[in-house]
Amino acid sequence: MVDATWGTGEAPRDVLGPVSGGPAFDDDHPPTKDLIADCVHCGFCLPTCPTYVLWGAEADSPRGRIYLMNQGVNGEPLSDSMVEHFDNCLGCMSCVTACPSGVKYDRLIEDTRAQVERRHPRTPREKALRAAIFALFPYPRRLRLLRGPLRAYQSSGLQKLVARSGLLPRLAPTLATLESLAPKLRGAPKPPRRVAARGQRRAVVGMLTGCVQSAFFPDVNSATVRVLAAEGCDVLIPPSQGCCGALSVHNGRREEAQRFARKLIDTFETSGMDYFVVNAAGCGSSLKEYDELLADDPAYAAKAAAFTAKVRDLAELLHELGPVAQRHPLELTVAYHDACHLGHAQGIRTQPRSLLSDIPGLKLHEIADPEICCGSAGIWNVLNPAPAASLGDMKARNVLATGASLLVTANPGCLMQIAAAAQRQGGRIALAHTAQVLDASIRNLGGDALLH
Ligand code: SF4
Ligand code: SF4
Repeated sequence: MVDATWGTGEAPRDVLGPVSGGPAFDDDHPPTKDLIADCVHCGFCLPTCPTYVLWGAEADSPRGRIYLMNQGVNGEPLSDSMVEHFDNCLGCMSCVTACPSGVKYDRLIEDTRAQVERRHPRTPREKALRAAIFALFPYPRRLRLLRGPLRAYQSSGLQKLVARSGLLPRLAPTLATLESLAPKLRGAPKPPRRVAARGQRRAVVGMLTGCVQSAFFPDVNSATVRVLAAEGCDVLIPPSQGCCGALSVHNGRREEAQRFARKLIDTFETSGMDYFVVNAAGCGSSLKEYDELLADDPAYAAKAAAFTAKVRDLAELLHELGPVAQRHPLELTVAYHDACHLGHAQGIRTQPRSLLSDIPGLKLHEIADPEICCGSAGIWNVLNPAPAASLGDMKARNVLATGASLLVTANPGCLMQIAAAAQRQGGRIALAHTAQVLDASIRNLGGDALLH
């Protein structure tokens, strides 16, 4: 029977399977009744939710998941099915943008995931996969160790041989997904510790080099440093910095995320930076929530709040400072993709478009259904390869339909996901980060430099 307080939406109660026992949530930051009550069940969020678009099931919509949270706070135990619907959420925050009632779904799902991770027993296979992911992805040095073997695999012809055999997706689908996502690797020079501003100094910025970004997209970091220096920033890049904790916090591993956050704050605490700049959308959104992440830690709450106030996405900071470096023409047609954690989570949409549009010769194209996630979503595409590929294909079709020669976005996960999907569809489009486009314009490299 549908709970009357939950309006006319089909209640997902019927999909709940056998319970694993015990109350769903404990007292350590459960999703709160107040936040749940903000949802008026209007359903405006449903068509913007990628899992609802894929499966059309109420329980896999934002409203359905909030309904399940409500059951949890009312004392129902966590069932396997309930957990499955929470796990299915990409955390893309498209529903936050769409919701006219200001429901803080981001807060709700983050608290719910932390409860699930602590209280729900995972199967041995799930445990092993998650353990492997979290022993590797948040550690840039470990990721960088993969570069050598991966480059050899890509350049020796072995990759083509494996692809022709078609065996990998059948024998090891997770590995096949990772393999298909890995970008073509080139040499990676070590970033310097400090780069001086060109011309008059306007700001001192600390820079996050990131985990996946530094291991697989070092060119993006190099371009970011050059653009910042050209725009009058001293750039600080301490090599001891580690992961920002985004992947951990987005997957319910709150304590691990807190450890990463404390270390990053310590690394930059005495640096004298005016801003802390981030060029990866997923990292930026969680860095802007360090104040909430460490609010209960008396030793770090104030430091975290001060740190959070300095965090800027690269496009946000460049827009705020205003350009001083001359832009040279780039004859390019560009499709700009809003990474969910930049558009939905940080509300940064106009700044990158304005920076790109200001480049002479560059024509900007909009992509249909921009609010729908490309299916990357941190590690969601690794944990859910089949639906992630469907979302990637939908996005790639819309990207290719723009007729643009270059896709630009600000998140390494999106770049890898859309590149793999476009390749599956036999489409040809070059990919770049916003920083690389600005860098090419400032250095007068010409549009062709980005179309390889
Ligand atoms: S975060 Fe994304 S996937 Fe999750 S409920 Fe909201 S729109 Fe759906
Ligand atoms: S749009 Fe907001 S209020 Fe309406 S159902 Fe979705 S979350 Fe609830």
